[in-house]
Amino acid sequence: MPIRGPVGSGTGNIAGMPSDAPTDAPASDYRNLLQLEQAQLDAELSELGFDDGKTGLEYDANFADTSQVTAERGEAEALAGKLKDALEEVHAAILRLDDGNYGTCEACGVTINPARLEAMPATRFCIDHANRS
Ligand SMILES: [Zn+2]
Repeated sequence: MPIRGPVGSGTGNIAGMPSDAPTDAPASDYRNLLQLEQAQLDAELSELGFDDGKTGLEYDANFADTSQVTAERGEAEALAGKLKDALEEVHAAILRLDDGNYGTCEACGVTINPARLEAMPATRFCIDHANRS
């Protein structure tokens, strides 16, 4: 789907347009997807109070021994653990992009379906090996 400048509108040279606009290379699309996912995961962790330097929500000691708070804390920690795992997957995927290894299954080495990568940009496995986790 090539998107070119305006067709038939004079010179097609619009003032203020960057002369070196990035081309739509697939690799940069995946990087963009990964960075979006990374930002979202970071935001969710921050909301839970598990962003950098913190180990969890700051619970008041006076309430820390109620079963409800304990349960909520456990849920928050479980969720934060999943988010951190996902974040690590995203980091690893970005490193694979840098190394040029992105988009191949770690189990069998096949090229992962682009549609699958767009839906799950941090995945390390093809559809056949996706159930390993
Ligand atoms: Zn595979």
